[in-house]
Amino acid sequence: MWETGNGCPDIASLSALSEVFGTDIGVLLSGGIDKKETEKGNMKKLKFYVCSTCGNIITATSDADITCCGRRLGALEAKKADESEKLSVQDIGGELFISSDHPMTKEHYITFVAYVSDASATVFKQYPEWGLQITMPLYRWGKLVWYCTEHGLFYQDL
Ligand SMILES: [Zn+2]
Ligand SMILES: [Zn+2]
Repeated sequence: MWETGNGCPDIASLSALSEVFGTDIGVLLSGGIDKKETEKGNMKKLKFYVCSTCGNIITATSDADITCCGRRLGALEAKKADESEKLSVQDIGGELFISSDHPMTKEHYITFVAYVSDASATVFKQYPEWGLQITMPLYRWGKLVWYCTEHGLFYQDL
């Protein structure tokens, strides 16, 4: 009766396992850049890489080898924004209006705001000397992730 013994992995868990690995390997091989990441469920693992030289923003759902401007980039760790750091989020009837009075000077500004949900990630690039104002569709669940040139990566739940 070996098939009921502990040593025999059951078929269901094996195929589940290979699905998990299949997905991860697929994303890894593709470099994990943007487009591929519409795969459901992967977004929670989304990592952000920012090149301090050119300001490039790269996202990946796996620990990918990301280089930009000749340097290897490490994934940034997002801090949970406290009340004073949070972006202002208003429901303006079917859409969200995001704004902030955070400085937007060349030396100190928010370079991007990303909306991240289970199924997708959308990056809104920001520019110094422009006020931070974003209008995006109202989603059911998600979080905002943004990057300040002085203080790093932050997130807040919506
Ligand atoms: Zn770069
Ligand atoms: Zn700042």
